[in-house]
Amino acid sequence: MTSRETKAVQCLGFVDGQTGAIVPPIHPASTFERGADLGYPTGRAYARADNPGFEPAERVLTELEGGQASLLFASGMAAATAAFLSLDPGDHVVAPRDMYWALRSWLAGYATRWGLAVEFVAMDDLDAVRAALRPGKTRLVWVETPGNPLWTITDIEAVATLAHRAGAVLAVDSTAATPVFTRPIALGADLVMHSATKYLNGHSDLIAGTLTTARDDDLWRRIKAFRAHNGAIAGAFEAWLLMRGMRTLHVRARRQAETAMLLAERLSIDPRVARVLYPGLPGHPGHDIAKRQMTGGFGGMLSIRLRGGRAAAIATAAGMTVFLRATSLGGVESLVEHRASVEGPDTPVPDDLLRLSIGLESPEDLLADLDQALSSSGG
Ligand code: PLP
Repeated sequence: MTSRETKAVQCLGFVDGQTGAIVPPIHPASTFERGADLGYPTGRAYARADNPGFEPAERVLTELEGGQASLLFASGMAAATAAFLSLDPGDHVVAPRDMYWALRSWLAGYATRWGLAVEFVAMDDLDAVRAALRPGKTRLVWVETPGNPLWTITDIEAVATLAHRAGAVLAVDSTAATPVFTRPIALGADLVMHSATKYLNGHSDLIAGTLTTARDDDLWRRIKAFRAHNGAIAGAFEAWLLMRGMRTLHVRARRQAETAMLLAERLSIDPRVARVLYPGLPGHPGHDIAKRQMTGGFGGMLSIRLRGGRAAAIATAAGMTVFLRATSLGGVESLVEHRASVEGPDTPVPDDLLRLSIGLESPEDLLADLDQALSSSGG
């Protein structure tokens, strides 16, 4: 049996039946021919609902996640919000305190006004999760692990058990983990979400998102209908680019995790750095769970807290010449970001923190850049 890695690299062995081309085509068509009997011979009518160009990426991702089906969206936010808006007003949902800030503020703002009862908890505290669940009322528990940008680890298996006992489904934002290092469905999750903008594509040149389901159930059918009606779909070229990016996911993600581990180890003994947040380090509070839950690496994201506080963090980012100062993550180029200044006054992120997205550059160049930037900032 071929491995998931081989399947992704070969796009499930794709060969075009008509031309022999070994790369899937781009399908820009917005509409599909109807039969003389007014039927739809290919099962497709209009590209807002069904797009053959999405299928290669959706099928490969389904295989990588070990799910039943996947859907491609216009962005990670479009994918995540589709899951929440496929519930009913009045439903109760539990979400993590440490999570991607734009989704947190959407949940606290729009989703709450729309009618969801949203409760934020520390997902790494199982007693707090248990206390937040309202059996029969909680419909969805949202987990993000490692959680951006503190890289807190949530025990997916334990939270899945608690969620299911309360009659809720568990959705996992697995953007930072990638299907290379964590497979939430095998651990009991019902839905997996990715900002495909990040590692799945990997080249910082598209915005897209995905959902994968463990089963074709009522919630999944609602999500599918939501995407078709809401219309937050990816473009044909983006879908094609994503498929191309996913072919190299494993090799990129492994190298990024190796370099992140090396940097985390070196930075953790650097006197200018107060703390390194990386789940691969034995001192990380979620390390034991991460060791169990993540296979083959701990991902390419880490954060550092500087002894010199906010001023040192900003000066260090300013002094970097190999790391680029830009938001986002998971691309081939390393990025540095001062998250607190992006997230605003309500952020739980400390202002001495720099988030590092590790790319594919030479690890020595990245280490040297960090070293010189820390020195020039005065630590
Ligand atoms: N989830 C995580 C963990 C993210 O980091 C991001 C974006 O930074 C998103 C979701 C949202 O994805 P997008 O920017 O593709 O809408």
